[in-house]
Amino acid sequence: MEHVDLAVIGGGPAGAAAAIRGAHAGLRVVVFERAAHGRDKVCGDGLTPRAVAALEELKIDLTAAHRIDGLRMIAGRQRRELDWPATGRFPAHGAVWPRRRLDAHLIDAAAAAGAEIRFGVDALPEFEGDRVVGVRTEHGVVRATMTVLAAGAQGEAARMLGAVRDPREPFGLAIRSYAETPRHTDRLLEACLALRDEHGTPVPGYGWLFPAGDGTVNIGVGALSTMKGFKKLNLNTLVESYAAMVRAEWDLGPMLERPRAWRLPMSVLRRHGPGWVAVGDAAGLVNPMNGEGIDYGLESGMLAVDQFLTDPATASTSYDVAVGERFDAFLRTGRRFSFLIGHPLLLRTGLRVAVGTQAAADITLAVMGNLVDNETPGAAGRVMRLADRALAVADPVLRRTRAAA
Ligand SMILES: Cc1cc2nc3c(=O)[nH]c(=O)nc-3n(C[C@H](O)[C@H](O)[C@H](O)COP(=O)(O)OP(=O)(O)OC[C@H]3O[C@@H](n4cnc5c(N)ncnc54)[C@H](O)[C@@H]3O)c2cc1C
Repeated sequence: MEHVDLAVIGGGPAGAAAAIRGAHAGLRVVVFERAAHGRDKVCGDGLTPRAVAALEELKIDLTAAHRIDGLRMIAGRQRRELDWPATGRFPAHGAVWPRRRLDAHLIDAAAAAGAEIRFGVDALPEFEGDRVVGVRTEHGVVRATMTVLAAGAQGEAARMLGAVRDPREPFGLAIRSYAETPRHTDRLLEACLALRDEHGTPVPGYGWLFPAGDGTVNIGVGALSTMKGFKKLNLNTLVESYAAMVRAEWDLGPMLERPRAWRLPMSVLRRHGPGWVAVGDAAGLVNPMNGEGIDYGLESGMLAVDQFLTDPATASTSYDVAVGERFDAFLRTGRRFSFLIGHPLLLRTGLRVAVGTQAAADITLAVMGNLVDNETPGAAGRVMRLADRALAVADPVLRRTRAAA
């Protein structure tokens, strides 16, 4: 029977990062991707400076991506343009790279590094007792010392492993399309933080315009499940009304494809077990404050393999500890924050503060760029740690009084 070091379920950024890291280190890696090469992923295509750092670590050539220098934040009549800050840890630029091309580039890099990619193959974990011993596909079983679940938001493989969303925690939904614009080479991402649904209810989320440098802009909106009326929220209507709002300023053409929506997982009940780990969206690694997860996916993919290289026998538990140390406190703060902004009044007040002063806008920028985590020094790190303590106190009340769906 075939036996490999790593069997990776899913060939998105998280799976590709694990495969590149593993193959570079000489491991025998097989990636199972159910779609064909060049599949698209519903996404805003925005790469934070943190994502750029991770791609550079993976030796990915970014010349095909459209460079982005900062963020324009709009909340009602308030508007601020800020460059990504220079930090010791991350570069001072991000990028926009449409996912059809980014993901193809990454999986090709994994293949070039020596990983084997099997497209068009659905894979599910194979168990012996409670231990995952590899994957099962329509072609049979491939045994693996470690199986990496990189299958994105939910699905059958995740259900079999218990790697499902925590029903007590929030999640997001977002929708996007593309449109032509003469401003496709703009160097700023644009985020409209003051969205309202068709009934005038403030939406905790934002509308975005991410210029792709190829004649088009990625346009979309995302919302958090903590808002009142979330179940009835019509994302198609919301993105159409957002497009109407920005059409003149961006000289936008019609949507180039039917807007498509997808989930933003923000928690998971299990992200490791005997013989397996979950990375990227499959591990609930999406920032609840901006819906971004490519960078976390790349980092967690690398982290999982690093633990395996240190000691395959302890890799799944040491990965759980390492990924937790890097992300858990920040993501918990983000989830608590999403309950806070689910309250319309608190959302409106928060927005005034977030964009109202330069100091607050700098912190908002750091959060929007995924530049903050447990190790962040400076003002943004301090504010997040303080916010975490304050939100920890308020959390039970915010959850109890959460806007009824
Ligand atoms: C509308 C929207 C906008 C977003 N915008 C941004 C943004 O601008 N910036 C950002 O950083 N993040 C953004 N995100 C989040 C980002 O898209 C995800 O965090 C990212 O794609 C996670 O990568 P992944 O590799 O974990 O999963 P995915 O990219 O979802 O890849 C998972 C892969 O697994 C495959 N697969 C699934 N099940 C199986 C199986 N059983 N067998 C074989 N293959 C399988 C799928 O076909 C897929 O290719 C956005 C999300 C949405 C929905």
